[in-house]
Amino acid sequence: MKRVRLLVLNAALGVLDYKLGDREAIPVGSVVIAPLGPRTVTGIVWDEGRLPGTEVPAEKLRAIREVVDVPPIAKPLRRLIEWTAHYYCANLASVARMVLSSGGALGGPTTTTEYRLTGNEVSGRLTAQRKQALERLSGEQGTMRELAAIAEVSEGVLRGMAGAGLIEPVSVAIDRPYPPADPDFHQPELSQDQRRVADRLVDAVKAREYAPFLLDGVTGSGKTETYFEPVAQAIRAGRQVLVLLPEIALTENFLVRFEQRFGTPPVLWHSSLKSTERRRAWRAIAKGADDGGAQVIVGARSALFLPYADLGLIVVDEAHEVSFKQDDGVRYNARDVSVMRARFEEIPVVLASATPALESLHMASTGIYEKLDLPSRFGGAQLPDIQLVDLTVEKPGNGQWLAKPLIDGLTERLERGEQSLLFLNRRGYAPLTLCRNCGHRFQCPHCSAWLVEHRLSARLACHHCGYETKVPSECDECGEPDCLVACGPGVERIADEVAALFPEARVAVATSDTLGNPEKAAEFIAQAEAKAIDVIVGTQLVTKGFHFPELTLVGVVDADLGLEGGDLRAAERTYQQVAQVAGRAGRGAKPGEVLIQTRHPDAPVIAALANGDRDAFYEAETDARRDAGAPPFGRWAAIILSSEDEKEAREAAVRLGDTRPHRDDLYILGPAPAPLALLRGRYRYRFLVNAKRSADLQDMLNHWVSGVQFPPGIRIGIDIDPYSFV
Ligand SMILES: [Zn+2]
Ligand SMILES: [Zn+2]
Repeated sequence: MKRVRLLVLNAALGVLDYKLGDREAIPVGSVVIAPLGPRTVTGIVWDEGRLPGTEVPAEKLRAIREVVDVPPIAKPLRRLIEWTAHYYCANLASVARMVLSSGGALGGPTTTTEYRLTGNEVSGRLTAQRKQALERLSGEQGTMRELAAIAEVSEGVLRGMAGAGLIEPVSVAIDRPYPPADPDFHQPELSQDQRRVADRLVDAVKAREYAPFLLDGVTGSGKTETYFEPVAQAIRAGRQVLVLLPEIALTENFLVRFEQRFGTPPVLWHSSLKSTERRRAWRAIAKGADDGGAQVIVGARSALFLPYADLGLIVVDEAHEVSFKQDDGVRYNARDVSVMRARFEEIPVVLASATPALESLHMASTGIYEKLDLPSRFGGAQLPDIQLVDLTVEKPGNGQWLAKPLIDGLTERLERGEQSLLFLNRRGYAPLTLCRNCGHRFQCPHCSAWLVEHRLSARLACHHCGYETKVPSECDECGEPDCLVACGPGVERIADEVAALFPEARVAVATSDTLGNPEKAAEFIAQAEAKAIDVIVGTQLVTKGFHFPELTLVGVVDADLGLEGGDLRAAERTYQQVAQVAGRAGRGAKPGEVLIQTRHPDAPVIAALANGDRDAFYEAETDARRDAGAPPFGRWAAIILSSEDEKEAREAAVRLGDTRPHRDDLYILGPAPAPLALLRGRYRYRFLVNAKRSADLQDMLNHWVSGVQFPPGIRIGIDIDPYSFV
């Protein structure tokens, strides 16, 4: 009798065996529904012999109930699921869930209702709002919510118009085809450097084999236009392309350029898609590039695990970005996994960056990645002039954060009608609030973290768990009214300082709080391009992707901020952020200037930034990493044990520590309370493991951790190649 082994999409169930029932065969990779007790489970038919499980006698097997009408998960993706689970010490089912992440893709309705104007004669007088809706909705079709946004009236107004016969419902197929991209819609003019790099990548797409590239180009060198050429080649060949971007809210600029080049927008994949959009995209991706399927998919890191029918190229843009690392659930790094996917799919992968990760540069210098360089800015624009402002000499006024050279720079730009950008990687108004009377510090009730004041929303917020409370009018502790003092600056406070210095200036705060969705981001970009903003004050959100020709001054308010804390990549991250934000200056015809405020002008990373000496920084950082046995020369892993009960967490950590392996190829630090010792109401203890590259780190960790029985209240997270050290 024929049986199949299912990888069930439920981490607690693992693998289960079933019989085929009255079916002849079910292809490996098929997505199926199977009975389990009185319920059903979804699973993927897995390759024979690859997943260990207990052998169930044949007479006890139940039959597969249904084969879901989607293409089977292909072999390269099945291998990627296995690799990801093993490498990141994650549960196979949890990884597989990322592939089938759109529950609606597997079933659900196939049509949805949209609305449009009927064109019926209007009888009687129109209200102003109905008149506005009639004018703005001409030629539009969408959900009530979408139309309300276009017409800028409430949904209630539109429903009233539907009742009056002015708007009608239309049934729309959810899985309707996407318009095809035209690889030759607009032929760009490329520089010689761009042409050389583009030709190499086009050849790689034609070769149809695994080839990893590091595309290393200075900010403003035209990396996007360059990698659009191999994208065009893949479209011509009828294959699919995945472009991963770090911040999907900031894709506006990218989408405009894409549409100019290919005549149609790409297929988007990110967490804020509606369920019908997810279903449509998922199915089009599984279908392939032909006949209205998905050709070019632009997505956040989760797009990496989608079931592409025929992937021909992967591009990871801003590949150094920390946001490619997922810090909960399956703790994978999309940059590294994309290289593995390219290997399993046997296709080229391009990691593009102006400030590559040290790990990527190391892979290039050892010849594992092919390095392609774009050394100069496109169109002859010059790289900006960079100066340090030593805050120990140029002291800002009391309760102020901008030193005189930076204020002078802002004054000049305002007089010339040019734009300035002030960078401080800290959201909100102030990172700490305390009581002047008793010294009480306002702390999150669920985390060992200070509450950050957000003056724009009049709230105190925890940036770790999302807890929020109104700014109190009196102290929690001593009851004294009007005694709260804001300590330290956030972007909102810097914006206040600018407004006080230059009351006429138009100041915009740009953070994930103010530009949290694509619409708000698009509005901000439109305003900045229309020169309706004089000074932008922003977090790391503004360090990339923007291209404002009138922006000629970048001020880094506190370059030392990122160097604090116990993060092994602190220097690299500071270098990348400051270099990226500096790259926003002088991208048009006018030259740019960058002023970096620091109390440590001699720190190697700050000095390298001032001298524009990237190689010196990377060399020094490489030496430091080699000495420390840190990546890329050695490897790190973190183990976090947590419980709602402090004693339980501590005792579990001690017990795990007692069984630690003693080996020459790794050493283990801990257990110790994690820097964020309380997070979302859970007490946390941490081990840090530093291993030689030759060590079988994952097998060791799995063996060690699974050898100890923990009470049910304990959660254990293993983080391979961690980026977060809290
Ligand atoms: Zn007090
Ligand atoms: Zn919190």
